[in-house]
Amino acid sequence: MNNVSENEILSLRNISHIYDQKNQKLKVLSNINFQIVKGEIVSLIGPSGTGKSTLLNIAGLLESPSIGSVQLCGINCNKLNEDAKANLRGSKIGFVFQSHRLFPEFSAIENVMLPQLIMGTSKSIAEKKSRDLLTMLGLEKRFTHRPSTLSGGESQRVAIARAVANSPSLILADEPTGNLDPVSAQNVFEILYKLVKSLNISCLIATHNHALAKSMDRGIFLENGNIKEK
Ligand code: ADP
Ligand code: MG
Repeated sequence: MNNVSENEILSLRNISHIYDQKNQKLKVLSNINFQIVKGEIVSLIGPSGTGKSTLLNIAGLLESPSIGSVQLCGINCNKLNEDAKANLRGSKIGFVFQSHRLFPEFSAIENVMLPQLIMGTSKSIAEKKSRDLLTMLGLEKRFTHRPSTLSGGESQRVAIARAVANSPSLILADEPTGNLDPVSAQNVFEILYKLVKSLNISCLIATHNHALAKSMDRGIFLENGNIKEK
């Protein structure tokens, strides 16, 4: 293996995607190619409805592309069955969405422990890691709080802790600051950026916030199914 492929965390090759809608076929992505290397933080920008979420779902193995292949950490995912995809997703990818999607009946620490327990980590190790992550994100006084008692920015920080809990290679974030006021958005983004840089995790972050996009390592602009590197 040469250095380039060793460093390659995500590689999308000749990806096209077509949705079957009621009376028509909608081509959302057209022959998309790009790679993300280890530790790189990349923005994904483009008008609403252009296919950012579709692209993230394909990169995250939640949806199979109509055409093309997804390689994650050197593994060609096309031929994997659903169980193998779920396993790879659980160990290599962390997701952050526009809304926090925390479980309301669980505390902050339990929400961060859950994906670790699912992947077979022991309760004591999962609890220690969750405490450490929440502390790194400035939430040491919120361990036992349920999501309904957290602010929007705090909830997103718990969601970020949950996304990195299994030490993924890649974070896929779909407008992670889209529901926050400008100050909280900046704050959550800075904390996410610092955390993933310190852990050397790659990120692909869909955002409408051009100021945040500018502060990332690289930008990809999606329009009419095609991408332009910015
Ligand atoms: P974005 O995240 O950039 O707003 P999306 O990826 O959500 O864009 O959607 C891109 C286009 O694909 C939109 O026109 C949307 O209506 C359509 N679309 C998304 N998901 C589906 C689906 N499951 N079935 C049919 N059409 C879809
Ligand atoms: Mg979207």
